[in-house]
Amino acid sequence: MKKNLKTSTLCVQAGWEPKNGEPRVLPIIQSTTFKYDNSEEMAMLFDLKKEGFFYTRLQNPTNDAVAKKIAALEGGVGAMLTSSGQAANFYAVFNICEAGDHIIASNEIYGGTFNLFGVTMKKLGIECTFVNPESSEDEIQKAFKPNTKLVFGETISNPGCNVLDIEKFSRIAHKNGVPLLVDNTFATPINCRPFEWGCDIVTHSTTKYMDGHATSVGGAIVDSGNFNWDAYADKFPGLCTPDESYHGLTYTKAFGKLAYITKLVAQLMRDLGSIPSPNNSFLLNLGLETLHLRVPQHCKNAQKVAEFLKDDTRVAWIHYCGLKDDKCYELGQKYMPNGSCGVIAFGLKGNRDTAIKFMDSLEMINIVTHVADARTCVLHPASHTHRQLTEKQLKAAGIAPDLIRISVGIENIEDILDDIKQALDKI
Ligand SMILES: *Cc1c(COP(=O)(O)O)cnc(C)c1O
Repeated sequence: MKKNLKTSTLCVQAGWEPKNGEPRVLPIIQSTTFKYDNSEEMAMLFDLKKEGFFYTRLQNPTNDAVAKKIAALEGGVGAMLTSSGQAANFYAVFNICEAGDHIIASNEIYGGTFNLFGVTMKKLGIECTFVNPESSEDEIQKAFKPNTKLVFGETISNPGCNVLDIEKFSRIAHKNGVPLLVDNTFATPINCRPFEWGCDIVTHSTTKYMDGHATSVGGAIVDSGNFNWDAYADKFPGLCTPDESYHGLTYTKAFGKLAYITKLVAQLMRDLGSIPSPNNSFLLNLGLETLHLRVPQHCKNAQKVAEFLKDDTRVAWIHYCGLKDDKCYELGQKYMPNGSCGVIAFGLKGNRDTAIKFMDSLEMINIVTHVADARTCVLHPASHTHRQLTEKQLKAAGIAPDLIRISVGIENIEDILDDIKQALDKI
């Protein structure tokens, strides 16, 4: 593929590069296995001495082409797809952490990730300290311990809609010799490429804008190749010392910039196995082909909805970084000058029941446990996605009990606004 292609071209063309006579469109290679008539050739693949396919848990032409496209979009050296965004965040952390380690995460993150880090990872012996991302660098510094292995945040938090100061977080992480991981699900590489701001590893729930049509749950991990693991070899033995389960191979020595992503596939995916189906990857690729067209439309519609809600007297508060007086406006302009995402957080005057009455009165807009697909939808995190959190945890995660999350779709803006107006009239 030609170098220096623009993002919109990469959306359409990156990843699958057919040779003469091969399908122009990415084919669905729905096969678990691949044929060899020479045992030596297969052995080379097992030894990671040659690239190729032998079993779909480790490599598959459809999955790999889509991973390659996402790597190109983020400007990374490599990517791996997973069966969900949850799996992506788990693998991304577990690839460099083990029992006895510690991580630091912004407390402004997706509820599923909050549980993963705070509850499930803890059972595996990995402790997480959650920090308020708006705290000063000195304050965040206090969370570091000798066994801290990484820092984690979300470009735009789900559902709080706060913007992460990526440069600040990468500065703190690097000062402590650890990488910064950023979940870039909401911004997508169309609006923000965290590697350009010092982030080292990006994760995605591709379930959201990347798929964009709500057909396939999936995730991705992209490595910038920039973090120098060997400079902190004592912190990252998994990457910098021999892997006994791979004939004593040392990932950083054997693969250089591709060490992290190679270990992710060769060790974690081999052992844990949360791959996407090639059929889902095919659908994800169809979504990616129009990502550069859909995302600006989501942003344009969301800006209009945000401006309408801000001026409506029945609205108690609204949080969308595209609004000039929003607390995240400056950060939004810095990291996402072309628009942020289609998701808006707001609250209505009244109580919990007012929010529910409003949502139940919507006609075209549906209540679904989803965001970031073509159809406009709403959710009340306190009664749905985050219902397992206590009031105190809700507060800590920046989620007001009256928060309504609206994910603005790509329908006609007048129809979206009309539906919101008639539902507001009914409360
Ligand atoms: C949805 C979401 C996830 C989890 O992804 P799944 O694909 O649902 O497993 C993780 N992070 C963010 C920011 C999300 O929005």
